[in-house]
Amino acid sequence: MTRPNIVFVMSDDHAAHSISAYGSRVNTTPHLDRLADEGSRLDAVYCTNSICTPSRASILTGTYSHINRAPSIYSEFDYRVPTFPQVLQEEGYQTALYGKWHLGRSEKARPRGFDDWRIYPDQGAYVDPVMIGPDGEEQLTGYATDIVTQQSLDFLERRDPERPFCLLVHHKAPHRPWVPHPRYDHLYEAGTIPEPETMWDDHSSRAEVVRQVRMQLDDLRESDVKEPVPEELRGEAEARERASWKYQRYMRDYLRCVQAVDDSVGEILGRLEADGIDENTIVIYTSDQGFFLGDHGWFDKRLMLDESLTMPMLIRWPAQIVAGSRVSDMITNVDFAATLLEMCGANPSALPEQQGRSFLPQLRGETNPGWRQSVYYRYWEHDDPEHHAPAHYGVRTPTHKYIHYYNDGLGTPGSSDRVMPVEDELYDLAVDPHELINVAADPAYAGVLEEMTALTAQLQEEYGDAPYQGPNTPRLEWPT
Ligand code: CA
Repeated sequence: MTRPNIVFVMSDDHAAHSISAYGSRVNTTPHLDRLADEGSRLDAVYCTNSICTPSRASILTGTYSHINRAPSIYSEFDYRVPTFPQVLQEEGYQTALYGKWHLGRSEKARPRGFDDWRIYPDQGAYVDPVMIGPDGEEQLTGYATDIVTQQSLDFLERRDPERPFCLLVHHKAPHRPWVPHPRYDHLYEAGTIPEPETMWDDHSSRAEVVRQVRMQLDDLRESDVKEPVPEELRGEAEARERASWKYQRYMRDYLRCVQAVDDSVGEILGRLEADGIDENTIVIYTSDQGFFLGDHGWFDKRLMLDESLTMPMLIRWPAQIVAGSRVSDMITNVDFAATLLEMCGANPSALPEQQGRSFLPQLRGETNPGWRQSVYYRYWEHDDPEHHAPAHYGVRTPTHKYIHYYNDGLGTPGSSDRVMPVEDELYDLAVDPHELINVAADPAYAGVLEEMTALTAQLQEEYGDAPYQGPNTPRLEWPT
C-alpha cells in the first residue's frame, strides 16, 4: 500500500467540550465536526502532564516527562530521546512544522527532523507574530492562526508529489490571552453564554492545596477580559457577580479564537480534496491538553480533573477508518508517536525508549488485546508564581480517579521549594462524573483507596517513575 500522508493539527489549550462534535452547548465547529463525521472521534484521550511543553515533548517522543526530561514550561527539550518526525524524515517522509513549538529557546531545543519549519518564540503573539525559521527571525503581518494555515497550504503547494509528507500545524490559539480575529466580532457575545453546571462548585471536600490554586475566574486579569471591571462589581460582596462577568468575556474570546482554528482545518481539508489526496491523508486534530472553561469555577489546566486531563482527538483517514466511528478505550498522549509510526509503516524500534502503544487497531474497529485499563498522570511543576498549582500524581481508571498531592517541586525548573501538606483525593466517577465529592477520607472507600494507591505504585514501577518519599526524596536533574 502507498504510505499515507499525515496532517497533524494541534491547537493549544483547546478543551474537547468546546467542539460541537463533543457536545458543546455553546459553539459550533463545522470543520472539526466533519473530521468526526467522516472519521473517528476518540472519547477517552488523556494527557500525562497537563501543560504545554511537557505534553508536546510526550507527543513527539512517546515518553513520560521523567524520561524526556521536559517536565515543565521552563524546560529545554534536549533530544535525549528521539522524536517521531525525526524517524519519519529518515524514512523518506517530507516533514514540516509551523506554529507553536514551546520546547525551549536554546539552539539545542530547536526543531530537528523537519525539512522546513517556522515557530513562534515561546507562546508567540496573536497579531503580527515574530516567527523563527532555519534562516533566522522575521516579523510577519496578520493573524497568527491564518498565518500558520497559509504556511501549511504553501508547504502542500510546493511538496514533492512523489513522496509522502508529515505536516505539523501547531496553532497557538486558543491559549491565553485569547485575542480573536475581528471577523468573529459578532459571535458569542458576552452575556449570552450559558454557565457550566459546576461553575459554583464550592470545593468543600477538595484538598486544601487545590482550594488555594489561583485559577478562579476572579483571578482573570484585565488583559484577559479586555476591559476594566465595572465600578459597581469591584466590591467584596460582588465576587460572584464579578466571576460571572469575567466568565462571559473570557469565554467569548476563547470561543472566537477556536473559530479561526476550525476555519484552518476547513481550509486544509479543502486543499487536500482539491489535490485529490484526501483519501490516503490522515488528518488528526488534537490539543496539547484540555482546559477549564469555567468548570469548577476555574480557567486554565494543570490539575488532573477531567476537563484539564482530557484531550480532544478526531482522526479522518478514509482509506482505513470507517466514517462516524468512535473509540472509547483509554489512550494517552504517550501513545501518539507509536500510532503514527505504525500508520506510516515505520519501524517502532526507531523510538527505543517509547512507552506508548499504537491504537491503530482501535481506529480500524478492531479490539487491541491487553489494552490498558488505567492511565498514569504526573504534574511536575509545583507552586508556580502565578497559579500556585501543586505537584501531584495519580491514576484514572474508567470508574475511579486517585490523586496524590505530594506537594514538592523535586528541583523541577519553575517550581518553588515550598513544601506543602501531603493530601489525597479520590473520585468515584461512576456516581460522581463531575468530580465534585472527594471520598478519600470516606471509610466506605478505604478498599478502593488502597487499590488505587497500589495501582499508582505499580504504574510508577512499570514506567520507571519514582514515588515521592518525603522531603528527602532525591532531586532529579533537569536540563535547563
Ligand atoms: Ca497548552
